[in-house]
Amino acid sequence: MQQSLTMEKDSSRPETIAPSDQQRQQPTPPSRYESQKRRDWNTFGQYLRNQRPPVPLSHCTFNNVIDFLRYLDQFGKTKVHLPGCVFYGQKEQPAPCPCPLRQAWGSLDALIGRLRAAYEENGGSPETNPFASSAIRVYLREVKGCQAKARGIPYKKKRKTSTTTARNDEQSSSSSPTTYFC
Ligand SMILES: [Zn+2]
Repeated sequence: MQQSLTMEKDSSRPETIAPSDQQRQQPTPPSRYESQKRRDWNTFGQYLRNQRPPVPLSHCTFNNVIDFLRYLDQFGKTKVHLPGCVFYGQKEQPAPCPCPLRQAWGSLDALIGRLRAAYEENGGSPETNPFASSAIRVYLREVKGCQAKARGIPYKKKRKTSTTTARNDEQSSSSSPTTYFC
């Protein structure tokens, strides 16, 4: 009665490697998040080295991080209408306009999360982590609000927002020392 069990077990564990399995023989590639994080970290390191004078990582502050985010805007792909544009506040854009392309708020938010982790994984102390600074949260909130207005996106839906977003908004809603946009 138990014979069939044994046989099934044997047949499900082939000793030979099928040709299609060869691709999986390479060392496990890092996850998409990990490789993206590494890329982001390298980009940021390069950015600091390219400053005049170069900024050592140990001297890096949230100001450098915010400058970095602004620098990245030139590679952005998200149209963010300026207040003077006729399409300002509209979701649809029926005709071209000269407004700049920016990094979408969500991309920046995710980027900061990855860099914050990378900073500490590369020996940085959590106490001095510039990516964890409240100034960064304030900055991101500004960007989010401005992009929502400019692109006519109702970010404040009644649907569940992520806990991170809710927490950030709560913590930094009272203090907004600088307006970076608008
Ligand atoms: Zn426009």
